[in-house]
Amino acid sequence: MTNIGSYEERIKNFDWSISSSELEYREGDKINIGWYCSDRICKQGKNDKIALYYKGFGGAEKQYTFNDVRLRSNTIGSFLREIGVVNGDRICLFMDRVPELYFSFLGVLKIGAIVQPLFSAFGDESLYVRLENAQTRAIITQKKHLSKVRKIKDELPHLEFIIIIDHKESHELKDREIALDLERRAPVEELEIYPTEAESPSVLHYTSGTTGQPKGVKHVHYSLLSQYLTTKWVLDLQEEDIYWCTADPGWVTGTSYGIIGPWSLGITQCVLDSGFSAQSWYSFIEEYKVTVWYSAPTAIRSLMKAGDDIIKKYDLSSLRHLASVGEPLNSEAVIWSEKNFGKPFHDSFWQTETGSIMISNYPGMKVKPGSMGKPFPGITGTVLDTKTFEPIREPGKIGLIAFKPGWPAMMRTYWNNEEKYREKFVSGWYLTGDKASIDNEGYFWFIGRDDDVINTGGHLVSPFEVESALLEHPSIAESAVVAKPDDINMEVVKAFVTLKPGVDPGPDLELEIMNFIRKKLSSVAMPQEIEFVDQLPKTRSGKIMRRLLHAKEWGEEIGDISTLEND
Ligand code: ATP
Ligand code: MG
Repeated sequence: MTNIGSYEERIKNFDWSISSSELEYREGDKINIGWYCSDRICKQGKNDKIALYYKGFGGAEKQYTFNDVRLRSNTIGSFLREIGVVNGDRICLFMDRVPELYFSFLGVLKIGAIVQPLFSAFGDESLYVRLENAQTRAIITQKKHLSKVRKIKDELPHLEFIIIIDHKESHELKDREIALDLERRAPVEELEIYPTEAESPSVLHYTSGTTGQPKGVKHVHYSLLSQYLTTKWVLDLQEEDIYWCTADPGWVTGTSYGIIGPWSLGITQCVLDSGFSAQSWYSFIEEYKVTVWYSAPTAIRSLMKAGDDIIKKYDLSSLRHLASVGEPLNSEAVIWSEKNFGKPFHDSFWQTETGSIMISNYPGMKVKPGSMGKPFPGITGTVLDTKTFEPIREPGKIGLIAFKPGWPAMMRTYWNNEEKYREKFVSGWYLTGDKASIDNEGYFWFIGRDDDVINTGGHLVSPFEVESALLEHPSIAESAVVAKPDDINMEVVKAFVTLKPGVDPGPDLELEIMNFIRKKLSSVAMPQEIEFVDQLPKTRSGKIMRRLLHAKEWGEEIGDISTLEND
């Protein structure tokens, strides 16, 4: 039996009070995510249940119970209070996926401060822009990242505390630097939780920067209601599950579903803090007997590229439910996972701004490979006409993906940019900036980001559809499709592809691929050109940055590249 039961029934009878009553939260109560994810779980008698299995670089393994998480987050909270951090201060977490990152996340929230997680692979420039924008007061980091902080701290007068979690006594601490040795500090048994309320700010997340300059998205503690219930119903987490979310907490998936969702449900999760390889991922699933796996298309495509033979070397029979987010999930990936794991990846669509899953394929519901699924119960989602902003009733017609505001995890503003925030709302709808169509059964089909959809001689072409067709070709590992200038049609389709190992590019292959996709695509959607490349430009969160390829084709400025993977 799945947690969601019948999707149709859930939709009919839905009310967010389902979530608040399970969380024993009543309007006007204090609500603190840090407390909910640790203290409350312990109060439910799960002190000794494992909250976190951790495997680090080089294979070091650790495990922590919910009581360990409670105590360690208390200790960090109390330490921050001691040095003078107060509610509302922005505290940046700039660490690899070490256990302290997870404890700090809850510790910061427990004292009412705002947690600002940033991906530790960022260089000093990217770090500077975000710390400056948020006027961050403290940063918690590791020694290995200290040089980046030291480089920029003189230009950051608001940054009063640089807290190092793995400081060795032999190293000299410089101005503003403080060591925090969690293992040596006396655990704080009781911490006074700051009385945060529904609208108290909680997390400040920066978007991926796929379409332009990253935006700081402000969330509040009330988001818990969405994150709790979507985790329960979409990811289907159950008491005995071992859950693996592959996202880094520097991105919203890594906090909404890599910390808040699973731990507010008291679920055991595991973290792999090492670089990607198909071997290490499969052996991690085997070793920890992962049951529920939440990942992203870029990773799935890399696993596909590594081939199917390697899968047979591992026992992956523990896997029960698979889900994906972050980019469109090509139908080929869904079919591949069904073939190799015996179950499909369930696509889910949402954004940093939405804070929680909005559209998804639910456990138990028919999966249509290539579709994002249907709106979460309680979410009114539609596609709007690009000119009138009226909902489109016609199945299959392309429009702007929009939601009726009002779900708990919706962002409250863009940090320092109220104007941009307001621009996201038109005629009572929140505009996502993405396009889709809806079929006659209510399934959403992703088309592309607003700016990526190609208009060739008046016909709209979905880059996703062309990319998916390309991906079905056995030689192609990844693809990105953009508009290229054309005298007659204004825009035509151009494809960039990377090839699987051992395949040589050349005119013969281009012709073969063209013939292959011709059977799948309409004539307007056919690429005029295929360019073979060694790699595609991606954000650090693994998303293809089509705008860079587009800019190159049009001879335009490439804009903000602070989140480019290989900068
Ligand atoms: P920026 O807003 O800075 O350009 P970003 O939009 O990539 O970056 P995120 O909030 O991390 O930042 O990503 C949300 C976006 O990712 C969505 O708006 C959508 O374009 C894409 N996305 C997420 N999930 C899916 C999915 N299942 N199918 C298609 N696209 C998806
Ligand atoms: Mg975005």
